Amino acid sequence: SFAAMIIDQDEAGRPNGRLREITLADLPDHPVLVEISHSSLNYKDGLAISGKGRIARRTPLIAGIDLAGVVVESRSPEWKAGDKVIVNGWGLSETESGAFTRFQRLKPEWLTPLPSAFSAEQAMAIGTAGYTAALAVLALEDWGNLIKARGDVLVTGAAGGVGSMAISLLSARGYRVVASTGRAGEHDYLRSLGAAECIDRSEFSAVSRPLQAERWSGAVDSVGSTTLANVLAQTGYGGAVAACGLAGGSDLPATVLPHILRGVALLGIDSVMAPPDKRQRAWDLLSGSLEAEKLASMTCVAPMRDLPVLAEEIVAGRVRGRVVIEIA
Ligand code: NAP
Repeated sequence: SFAAMIIDQDEAGRPNGRLREITLADLPDHPVLVEISHSSLNYKDGLAISGKGRIARRTPLIAGIDLAGVVVESRSPEWKAGDKVIVNGWGLSETESGAFTRFQRLKPEWLTPLPSAFSAEQAMAIGTAGYTAALAVLALEDWGNLIKARGDVLVTGAAGGVGSMAISLLSARGYRVVASTGRAGEHDYLRSLGAAECIDRSEFSAVSRPLQAERWSGAVDSVGSTTLANVLAQTGYGGAVAACGLAGGSDLPATVLPHILRGVALLGIDSVMAPPDKRQRAWDLLSGSLEAEKLASMTCVAPMRDLPVLAEEIVAGRVRGRVVIEIA
């Protein structure tokens, strides 16, 4: 038997996560058996394990949305024993059995080869947060107006996982990055990742005018709610904002004015069901633009038994950067 983090109903009928011993017979009957070496902690895992958000659509379900490991056996011609693979999203921990377990059986189409630029541990240091930040950078660049000379790119939720990764990627690609954080003690950290300037997130938390002075050529937002509404209101003519998250709330108290008077675009970012070609582009961008030292400086490693505590910490906004979960 081996340990797995399982979301199940507690005595009060509310789902949350507990470590339990399971066997291969408890896994789904998908064709590719993978031995998982590393996973990672994401905000969604915090919600699922703490029970602060309904992530698992059925229980019991193994939690965890990211995995890196080695194929042990495969009934699919696409994969063979010994292949090094990663999985991000695809409904793991929501509708599908997830990543916080030594072994998992998976559908072949969910697997991606481990990018040659990264070890399994590095791929999980990046994880869904980093791959989402890469999707956001691609979306902004595809939009086309993120011209280096034109102005600053804002990153909200800066000291979190998506934020830290977005700062590193954007600065490596030559943009001037402004980091918005609620943690004044992390300004040196954010500058070390490449932020040119740090501002306090309280600047965005009050309801304000629907059109404000134009400050940003683009933005990566992990926060949502009033923060996102203010960022849109401050985005310059023809700029774009990539909406990634809801750490501050899932509402959006905004008007259409930035969109119809300044041509500002709100670009939606989804990592879970993103098609393979987009994933490939995101991992290529990470392989080319992420400095190994910066990745190491934003990452810590923890064992699976720490997940219940870490889940509370990340939902409370107290985790800096990324946490790799060691499975093996
Ligand atoms: P994280 O590490 O916890 O980062 C979130 C950051 O947001 C925190 O570190 C904090 O940054 C800030 N924050 C937290 N609570 C806040 C509040 N009440 N008001 C304002 N700012 C607040 O989480 P993550 O894993 O990076 O994920 C970030 C968000 O993106 C989550 O909502 C997650 O669900 C979402 N996400 C979406 C996708 C997708 O596919 N669209 C993929 C990955 C993640 P500071 O301390 O620096 O202020």
